[in-house]
Order: sequence, then structure tokens, then C-alpha cells
Amino acid sequence: MLAAPAELDLVAFDLSCSSCGYNLRGLECTGKCPECGTAVDHSINPPVTHFPPAQIRWARIVSLGLVIWLSATFESIGTVLIMRFSEDYGGTVARLNYIGPKAWAVPLIQRAVGYQPGSWGVNGVTRGLLMAVAVLMITTAPTERDWREPIWSMRFWARWVPLVLFGGFLGLTLGSEGLGYDDPQVRKFTLAAVAGVELPATILLYLHLRVLAKSLGLTRPASTFLWAVMLATLLMIGAAVLLTIGPLLADDRNRFPLQAALGVYMAASLCAAAAALGAITRLLLELMPIALQKIRPRRAAAG
Ligand SMILES: [Zn+2]
Repeated sequence: MLAAPAELDLVAFDLSCSSCGYNLRGLECTGKCPECGTAVDHSINPPVTHFPPAQIRWARIVSLGLVIWLSATFESIGTVLIMRFSEDYGGTVARLNYIGPKAWAVPLIQRAVGYQPGSWGVNGVTRGLLMAVAVLMITTAPTERDWREPIWSMRFWARWVPLVLFGGFLGLTLGSEGLGYDDPQVRKFTLAAVAGVELPATILLYLHLRVLAKSLGLTRPASTFLWAVMLATLLMIGAAVLLTIGPLLADDRNRFPLQAALGVYMAASLCAAAAALGAITRLLLELMPIALQKIRPRRAAAG
């Protein structure tokens, strides 16, 4: 049989190379990308990777956990902002501290203050519990084998320390109902919530996310999490200083230096939070295609 004259199939529309982004329009479909050498066909019919069922289930649980964490975070920011101002200088800044995805505990204080918690007091507890569920989901082990990893693994500490700290603080606030708004104990509670629960737990969670990002080959988000950890540590120290000697620092005649310092504090907080949000979004984008893949029924052994 005679071969038909080779018909030159050309890419007739704008098509970016799947590996370098070069526009492949006008090139032969059987050719290679002139920029990086990837086969043109690779960009026309991208190969589909099938993930094992365990990995698909894991990606679903972790993605859902990240989404729950983000929604609980934004609601918790609202709860802290609605809390009554105290006499403390820059007290609200210290309560907000790192204004990103974190293990929120300050809203729980609202439950203890006064003789009836407002809806925000209830909100603080329910969002906190949602966050606890999110922590369990985010720190799920990827495979059966990983459940048996040693006690000093990052995942183990990121899973249980935030829950123990949050639960302990919930008990502390529930056991101190009826505090007055100006009770000196409220400031101690705030200090314990910020430096004893929120930021240490958040640092552990970020270190876990760093390991997770690395395991997915995302090096830039991994380094973002490390930067956010370093900034959160500085913000924790700053908040502790504000809550302990804030009133002494405030000079009635000239508050500008402190106001400027609080401006710098929140700017650092917001930059770290935005970077961490970006890194979490990148993680979600990487996990989603795995999570959305169908789990294929196991085929019977070849017969
Ligand atoms: Zn290319």
C-alpha cells in the first residue's frame, strides 16, 4: 500500500508549551518546542497522571482542612475586632498579632468576660473548634505506613500540640466565667493566648506545611512558610512586650513613636500573612487536581 503524502499537521491556534510557555502556533504537531525541546504533542494531549486511591483521599482531606482553616480564620479576625477595647496601649494590635491563618485563641477570652457571652463569645468557641477539626485534617498522614512514624516527627507535633494548647486554654476560660472587662486577669489571659497558644501552635502548623510543600516539590512556598515562621516569632515577642509593658511605654505627650512602631508591626504582620495565604493557595492548587481525580475501582488481577 502506498503511503499517503505526508500531510503537515500544524498547530492552528495559540497554544502555550506545557513546560516553558512558548507559543507553539504554526509548528508541526509531531515536532518539538524550539525553546525547551518538549514534544509539541505533550502540550496538545497532556498526559494524565493517575494517582493511587490513598493519595487521592489524602489530598481531599488536606484540601478540605485548608479551606475550613481559612474560613475559620477570617471569622476569628472579625471576633477579635469586635472585642471591647481595654486600657492597654495597643492592646488590640497585640490581640490580633499575626493576622493570617493561625490557631486562634484570643476570641475564647470573650467567652469568659461578663456574665453572658455575646454571639461573638459563642463564635469564638465554635470557630476555634472548627479550627481544631481543620488541624486534624491538615495533618492527616499521606499513607497507612505514615501513621506509624516516630513521635518526634513534625506531623505528630503539629497535630497534637495545637489541640492540647487550644483545649487547655478553652478549659481555662470556661473555668473563669464572669470576669469584668477591666479585670487585670484579662490581660494575663490575653498574654497566655498569644504567647502560649496562638503563635507557638501556628509556628508548628507552618513547619508542617513546609514539609508538606517540600514533599509536593513546591520549594518557593516551602521557604515562604519558613519566613512566616520567623516573622510570627518576632510578632509573638512584640505582642508579649506590648501586653506586659505597653502602658508604661505610652507617653501621654508624644505617642507618635509608639504609633509608628505599631504601624510597622501591623505592616510586618500583614505581609507575612499575605505571603502565607499565597503559599497555602499554591498548596491548594497543587492538591486540587489530585483531590478531584476519580478513585478508579481496583481491577481484578489480570486473567
Ligand atoms: Zn517549551
